[in-house]
Amino acid sequence: MHTRIDALMAALGVPQQAWHDGEITSCSPIDGRPLGRVRRADAEAVRQAVGRAQAAFLRWRDVPAPRRGELVRLLGEELRRHKRELGRLVSLEVGKIAAEGEGEVQEMIDICDFAVGLSRQLHGLTIASERPGHRMMETWHPLGVVGVITAFNFPVAVWSWNAALALVCGNAVLWKPSEKAPLCALAVQALFERACRAWGDAALAALSQPVIGLADAGEALADDARVALVSATGSTRMGRAVAPRVAQRFGRCLLELGGNNAIVVAPSADLELATRAIVFAAVGTAGQRCTTARRLIVHASVYDELLRRLQRAYAGVRIGHPLEPGVLMGPLIDQAAYEAMQRALDQARAEGGTVHGGERVLAGQYPAAWYVRPALVEMPAQTEVVRRETFAPILYVLRYGDLDQALALHNEVPQGLSSAIFTNDLREADLFLSARGSDCGIANVNIGTSGAEIGGAFGGEKETGGGRESGSDAWKQYMRRATNTINYSRDLPLAQGIRFDL
Ligand code: NAD
Repeated sequence: MHTRIDALMAALGVPQQAWHDGEITSCSPIDGRPLGRVRRADAEAVRQAVGRAQAAFLRWRDVPAPRRGELVRLLGEELRRHKRELGRLVSLEVGKIAAEGEGEVQEMIDICDFAVGLSRQLHGLTIASERPGHRMMETWHPLGVVGVITAFNFPVAVWSWNAALALVCGNAVLWKPSEKAPLCALAVQALFERACRAWGDAALAALSQPVIGLADAGEALADDARVALVSATGSTRMGRAVAPRVAQRFGRCLLELGGNNAIVVAPSADLELATRAIVFAAVGTAGQRCTTARRLIVHASVYDELLRRLQRAYAGVRIGHPLEPGVLMGPLIDQAAYEAMQRALDQARAEGGTVHGGERVLAGQYPAAWYVRPALVEMPAQTEVVRRETFAPILYVLRYGDLDQALALHNEVPQGLSSAIFTNDLREADLFLSARGSDCGIANVNIGTSGAEIGGAFGGEKETGGGRESGSDAWKQYMRRATNTINYSRDLPLAQGIRFDL
């Protein structure tokens, strides 16, 4: 086992027995070595956890929302205090460079701050009633138990986007983290429990419980009618399995799934700015972000120049141990990810593409880990492989002649999560943001596809009809709306023109 992990887990307050024994082994993608072992929750364990969460919810819904916000504020404080340790753990368990590991914790802190403010702003409307002597209004109530399923590549932040909002809204949370990042989930839980103690009631810990298991634990959450909302983040394959199960029992689903994000580079683009943004969006987190730039649609007039700049920038990307200073790109999560990447590159070659990079590196130093050079792939057309999300650092480059053609290429893929255009032409920028432009939940101008802020609602890919965790009015997903009518007259007008006087 890694020696540093013991100190980290102790600093984060995770008891040894929680991660020294069990059926699920967490391995570091940095070198393939085991970090710890965790007990696996089966369907029965999930059912019991739902029962505890339901009981916790029944108490929590009576707590005034601003007091609920206080718990989230205290959680934010714990995260501030342990940002470095938790960020480090993210790096060890999923291979992010230090800045990205800590950046993920910063996102948690940001959403806690957002949710604290929100706890005093869960506003409903007052509506003009058509009936005399009546007042009508909306009130928002918590849903109950919220099930959260998360992906390996954001092992702590995605929980917080959901949990911070769900908690101030008055819900309890059950978290099925990725089986590839269970230690992060245990660490977050330990910090949450500290916040509960600081709030003054350790029993509140049942308000958020991790259930660490495989797909069957996620399925048990999806099937349990006591789980009012299932918020699932991961691949479209997973979303396709979860959504019908939840629909079967008329539960609510919030899906944040895969992306096949594109950047359009127009003739007037600032190529220096575009190059930096593209490299960050394509290579950051080793191409393992849902918002990673995977397709580049470049105007023919700037194609050669941009490609030259990108190749030069790619050659300067330092790949290696993610905690070493100066390293920009860490490893892929595992061998399966490496093999999927190589299969995609082979298919791209077969479909007429020219591949630059993409090969395995550092195999001598880390024989059980999977480091690669990021790949730039020039494609003659948007072929089958380009239309698919491969969760690896592959950037397909396509050429376009006029903007309508670029938009058609852009919107042609089934996944529509994040998008960007680089242009200094006002009309092109606004067209891209218009109903005729990008069909994605996130559309940007002169900034890349990745690095979404918590203040805006996140995701919203077109395939699922749009997720929407995190900011803006996403809190409404975690509550139910009631319309209340109050009759302060002595009449009973049932509707316009109808009276029912006995
Ligand atoms: P994954 O779909 O393999 O797993 C995600 C989670 O779903 C895990 O916890 C897994 O155990 C669980 N799961 C798998 N099958 C299930 C089933 N049948 N029922 C219930 N739960 C099930 O994804 P991954 O490899 O961990 O993550 C990468 C994927 O996640 C990419 O496609 C990426 O784009 C996507 N992602 C999306 C967002 C977003 O906000 N849109 C954020 C992060 C990752």
